Amino acid sequence: ISNRVSVLGLGAMGTALATALVHADHHVTVWNRTPGKEAALTAAGARSVPTVAEAMDAELVIVCLLDHASVMDTVDTTPVPSGTALINLTSTTPNESRSLAEWARGREIPFLDGGIMATPAMIGTEAGNIIYSGDNAVFEAHRALLETFGTADYLGADAGTAATVDFALLAAMYTMFGGFQHGAALASTAGMSASAFAERAHALLGALLGTLFDEGREIDAGRHTDPAQNLAFTKKAVDAIVRAGRDAGIDNAYLEPTRTLIDRAVAGGGRELGSSALYELIRHP
Ligand code: NDP
Repeated sequence: ISNRVSVLGLGAMGTALATALVHADHHVTVWNRTPGKEAALTAAGARSVPTVAEAMDAELVIVCLLDHASVMDTVDTTPVPSGTALINLTSTTPNESRSLAEWARGREIPFLDGGIMATPAMIGTEAGNIIYSGDNAVFEAHRALLETFGTADYLGADAGTAATVDFALLAAMYTMFGGFQHGAALASTAGMSASAFAERAHALLGALLGTLFDEGREIDAGRHTDPAQNLAFTKKAVDAIVRAGRDAGIDNAYLEPTRTLIDRAVAGGGRELGSSALYELIRHP
């Protein structure tokens, strides 16, 4: 095996990963399907190779491509030398990560799957975080190298775990930002700019963020009986907010599903429960 670490894929994220490794003085080999994205990296000391096979000849190969299909297109067409470990940092669904782990197991390739909880700019800084699951021996053997990207957390042996938690966090993130878009649209009908709304949303949501820990405890205890605001209250509030959106002529697409869920919980006898009771409807449909 001639190379220490290779990075397959020089998109925005692959480039950030390879750059962090080069800055940490690792000997890095890079490959990208389309040539031309490697100039800054080779100038900084990386070695660029034209074929996947050359890049695969490494102790550790980190793959960061577009999706599961592009990963299979790339790794399944090339023999992997014995002793090479593979880490997939492409965002894949949990089952795609498990199927990649299965593919690797069939070829006796030590395999770890990861979810990047960061933007490219955060890679190589304290704000960078990557979660991993799969072969613990791969994680332990390369832990110091992985920490050049930021913090590195190992979540368990099932290769699908990191992707599950990754997508769970993204689900929370996208709906929170969607809620912001909805609020900004509603506020604009009263003449408030989105920037001014952002100031206020940041203050309110920031102050409430700590209550996530209370919600987590309620859900884990299966209680939902300690509501700051019970679902009867929340139903009235959300019904009114939906009406306000309708009156203002905006699209309630983001809010309607929330209202539907609350209605189901209330119809099921949950009037006095806290909003964490909605978790049960989502978890056990
Ligand atoms: P980009 O679109 O910038 O890059 C995509 C990369 O995939 C390119 O290197 C491209 O090669 C390659 N690619 C696409 N299709 C194929 C194929 N069939 N065969 C070989 N190579 C292929 O994406 P990012 O770098 O931003 O993202 C990469 C991964 O990282 C994604 O899974 C993304 O979800 C994840 N991620 C990204 C984050 C971000 O903020 N950017 C945050 C967290 C995770 P070519 O140059 O030849 O087109």
